Amino acid sequence: MYKYETHMHTAETSACASASGKEQADRYKELGYDGIIITDHFLNGNCHEAIKKTADWAEKIDLFMAGYEAAKEEGDKIGLKVFFGFEYCYEGADILTYGLDRQWLLTHPEIEGLDFFSFSRLAHSSGAALIHAHPFREAGYLREIRLVPQWIDGVEVFNCGNADDAYNDRADRFADWYGFVKTGGTDNHHLWVNRFSGIYMERPLESINDYVNAIKQKTIGGVIYPDDYIRKDGILYYEA
Ligand SMILES: [Zn+2]
Ligand SMILES: [Zn+2]
Repeated sequence: MYKYETHMHTAETSACASASGKEQADRYKELGYDGIIITDHFLNGNCHEAIKKTADWAEKIDLFMAGYEAAKEEGDKIGLKVFFGFEYCYEGADILTYGLDRQWLLTHPEIEGLDFFSFSRLAHSSGAALIHAHPFREAGYLREIRLVPQWIDGVEVFNCGNADDAYNDRADRFADWYGFVKTGGTDNHHLWVNRFSGIYMERPLESINDYVNAIKQKTIGGVIYPDDYIRKDGILYYEA
């Protein structure tokens, strides 16, 4: 089995992250992962102000992709696959977006002004896959739970950034109700994180498109759960 992180941030791009792209790549190599997908907060989320302020679209994309590029450069040196994605923000619903690359972003400056539904339509028509990250998270910065099942391809059923594993339990049930493919992610922002998730694959991912296909064809091998998260008899048990 091959291990991949599907949800993580870098200090170069996300305002809330402290781990650099290089540090993130080194850490996951040490942990025995085969690859990572950098999913920094998109232009409508918590990316650095400098990225939001830049009027030049090409420069904006350059700045936005800086964390990914740093991780990719290190990954190439140490033998860790590094893929690109981003976390689109729809008023509290965080949507992990996979399969759109630099070239796509450069040729679609209109996405900055699109509402989520138009974005989802355009992303899907361009071959992307959308995963609803931590759909049942409760936190001070979130006013409501916003579900958009018609507009996504799968559900992140385990997220290490949730303060209570009950939020993960509910996400798992949500995925079951709709028959969604399930993913896991650490939502890693910092080097001090010590609880990890992600997904297993039976075959290695050679590109982000391999992951997009795994989502669409439901061939993800399974979710990586931290050791302290115990599932029994279809009921989720969790310890604080
Ligand atoms: Zn963040
Ligand atoms: Zn995130």
